[in-house]
Amino acid sequence: MPQKIAIIGGGVAGLTTGYLLSDSYDVTLFEKDNRLGGNVYTLDTKTGEAIDITVFFYSPMQYPNFFKLLLKLGIKSTTRPMEGCSQSFQNLKTKQAYYLNCDPMRITSTLHPRNFRALFYQGIVFWNYYKGMRMNNEGKFHGLILKEALRFLPGLKGDVLKMAIFPICIMTSMLWDELMEAPAEFVFNKIEKQCGSIKKFVSWRLYPCKTRTYVEKLAAPIREKIILNANIKSVSRFNGDVIVKMADEKEQTFDKVIFACPADTALKLLEQPTDEEKRLLGAWKYKDGLVIVHTDKSSYPSENLWGLYSYLYTEEDGKINTSINAHYRFQKGVPRNSNYIGTQHPNIDIDKNSIEFQKVFRTPIYDINSTETIKALPSLNAQMGTYFCGSYFGYGLHEDAVTSAINVSKMLGADWD
Ligand SMILES: Cc1cc2nc3c(=O)[nH]c(=O)nc-3n(C[C@H](O)[C@H](O)[C@H](O)COP(=O)(O)OP(=O)(O)OC[C@H]3O[C@@H](n4cnc5c(N)ncnc54)[C@H](O)[C@@H]3O)c2cc1C
Repeated sequence: MPQKIAIIGGGVAGLTTGYLLSDSYDVTLFEKDNRLGGNVYTLDTKTGEAIDITVFFYSPMQYPNFFKLLLKLGIKSTTRPMEGCSQSFQNLKTKQAYYLNCDPMRITSTLHPRNFRALFYQGIVFWNYYKGMRMNNEGKFHGLILKEALRFLPGLKGDVLKMAIFPICIMTSMLWDELMEAPAEFVFNKIEKQCGSIKKFVSWRLYPCKTRTYVEKLAAPIREKIILNANIKSVSRFNGDVIVKMADEKEQTFDKVIFACPADTALKLLEQPTDEEKRLLGAWKYKDGLVIVHTDKSSYPSENLWGLYSYLYTEEDGKINTSINAHYRFQKGVPRNSNYIGTQHPNIDIDKNSIEFQKVFRTPIYDINSTETIKALPSLNAQMGTYFCGSYFGYGLHEDAVTSAINVSKMLGADWD
């Protein structure tokens, strides 16, 4: 009889463990939502378009495990690097704007005079990223938050600073103020990991298939034992067993349980957590980020100036607040005349009649307390039959979620190599 294992959470981390352990364990996956995928969402619009409203960027170079997983699932990637890589930055009050286009496929826009100032500014951004990475590697940012470290990078100011920080808001799903309080080491390590060399930078690609393709393929081997709308009350460890108790008081006993849900949820569910679990999981806070998919173009520059992302920001009394707006027409497989825009952290009025979808996505906040735990998190695994994984084991990206899931699965005997 195979051992019984429960997975709590049906995001990419939980699904990856389920997929890798399905051959050797009797796997049950509990998901509290009415769908699988967690922060991965493919939307079918009224006009028949399939749009990935969250994850649609990846890089084979920085996502080796995720890329290998896609290959195992039979999903091939054939996109051109950097396609659709263009951005615009607009002050909502003054209407001052920059359009930045580095897309080799749209060379006429790239060479247009209006692009020159933005390209010049981008040059300063990259130079300061490199300077920051160097100083970080020399240990100069140790113990500093980003706001403090920026004093060592005087070239990053005014509009150049915004062009440097807004893309990091995308990479972390964090707001300007939250990023300024994040450890500078974390921010520059992340920049180094993702765009630390020209090769790394140009290896970014738009996603080749809809994300639901891999969600469905990962779920297939355990499909019969996936429980949606699961309302778990508690998880307790007793005499070598792990007991999952539901809100209706029904209990199921497992040999092992994998928490693939947010860290704060795992801690809440665990009965009698150890001091180390309290310390490491308790350090994580999460934020609820709203994404609205709509077709209201009234706040945006004219369509010929649309890029993959528009940052629409306000600046009052030194406080900067930006929305991140994805123009899905630049996404692979979406028609080039698509009018759909995805607004994350909305700070603009959006015509209610134009809204087709909205959802809150929970993402980890990387502050001084939480980032300090990352190295120690794997030490929580295999204690009294419980295991943990998720994107908070790294930089919050797919690669981190998948890598942590692979590590847990390998500890439980799964074959990965
Ligand atoms: C707008 C947006 C854009 C993003 N873009 C990118 C991108 O381009 N590239 C990239 O790499 N990453 C991106 N990310 C990050 C992405 O979220 C992570 O890469 C990854 O999807 C996180 O996976 P996870 O399995 O760790 O967590 P989640 O996806 O959060 O999954 C956790 C699951 O646990 C479930 N759960 C919670 N509580 C319980 C409970 N009590 N019982 C049972 N189940 C529970 C949740 O419902 C959820 O399904 C983006 C995120 C957002 C929000």
